[in-house]
Amino acid sequence: MAIVSPNSWRGVIDSFSICQSLAIGYRKSPINKDFYIMTVPPPSSTASPHYDLLIIGAGIAGLAAGRMAQQAGLEVMLIDKGRRVGGRVSTRRIDGFVFNHGAQFATSKSSDFGDILRAASTADTATNWQIEDKKTVVIGTPMMRAIPMFLANNLPIQQNRRIARIIRKTDHIQCVDTDDVPITAKKVICTAPAPQTAALVTDDFPYLAATASHAAYAPCLTVMLGLADDELLPKMPVKSPQHDIGWAMCETARPDAAQHRPALTIQADAAWSAAHKDDRADSIIKQLIEKYQLATECQIGEVLHAHAHRWLYAKVTTPSPADAIICQKNLAIAGDWLGGARIEHAFISGQRAFMALHPTHARPSI
Ligand SMILES: Cc1cc2nc3c(=O)[nH]c(=O)nc-3n(C[C@H](O)[C@H](O)[C@H](O)COP(=O)(O)OP(=O)(O)OC[C@H]3O[C@@H](n4cnc5c(N)ncnc54)[C@H](O)[C@@H]3O)c2cc1C
Repeated sequence: MAIVSPNSWRGVIDSFSICQSLAIGYRKSPINKDFYIMTVPPPSSTASPHYDLLIIGAGIAGLAAGRMAQQAGLEVMLIDKGRRVGGRVSTRRIDGFVFNHGAQFATSKSSDFGDILRAASTADTATNWQIEDKKTVVIGTPMMRAIPMFLANNLPIQQNRRIARIIRKTDHIQCVDTDDVPITAKKVICTAPAPQTAALVTDDFPYLAATASHAAYAPCLTVMLGLADDELLPKMPVKSPQHDIGWAMCETARPDAAQHRPALTIQADAAWSAAHKDDRADSIIKQLIEKYQLATECQIGEVLHAHAHRWLYAKVTTPSPADAIICQKNLAIAGDWLGGARIEHAFISGQRAFMALHPTHARPSI
């Protein structure tokens, strides 16, 4: 097995992304074939609202709210600036390599979220994974994104469309996207991360902006390596605080993933990520490769592909208080940051936002 030298990986770095990618015109290139994508003509100024409920964000919080809306028989639309559903529960495929480069697994304490994970398992999109002697978690199969894809089933979602403004009208809400196209709804749920939510609601919904201003996040620098061979690398998750590694995992060693090409995902811990978030991509890749090799005493070998991703709002470090205002007039806010830092918190928060806007609706079944 070849030892990685600084020059062997530098040539294969193909790009460096930040999590807030630029919106692509959704009308020009609807590229998500997995989901129902609808293009909407601009409404006339006298038209009644397009939707009963518009949900900004198709991460776990938005999908949880969307499912409830659909089960309640409302006309609902989700809009997401990303190319795929799931937000931070994400998987990237590059040249046949599969990287779970966001959330690594889900856990559940609440019965609702536990029921959803069991339903996902029954549908063969999730499975249990024992990651420590006494710790079993749930992962999407064959990749993490399978969990949000399961939640998104049959929901109308527009991808590659970013909302730039949320405007309070007398009896409805108008959202305007980055192409200046308005879209109206009787009610809106915004599930963007707290700083982005604060910016969207600051003019017309000051109580919600105040709630959002409390939350804080840590970044997470993530390196994705496509390898010629991963046989000699550890097959269990690597966590090494002394080497600044929050999580590293051979992708093919995850349950039901043996068919994928050899690949390694390395996530730096919060402190190192914060200190190095402005470093160049090639420097981040080089440093995390070295740290992984020191932590595991294994050589990574030949690297066929290297990519760095910079999650600016990765993990919530300070959630907003439990009694914070989440609903003002016809707008509610949701997201993991309104309860914690995990997938389950996002799910519960999405449900809570829906119920805050629709208190008379019977709680639908999972
Ligand atoms: C590296 C990493 C590792 C993690 N590990 C774990 C783990 O192992 N276990 C765990 O439980 N949790 C983990 N988490 C946290 C977990 O991913 C989040 O708690 C959860 O996914 C948050 O869901 P959400 O719906 O609240 O937000 P998001 O997933 O951030 O979804 C928000 C969505 O809104 C969209 N959006 C934002 N602004 C706009 C706009 N203006 N217009 C349109 N769309 C917009 C975004 O594109 C995004 O899809 C991890 C997170 C990261 C980043």
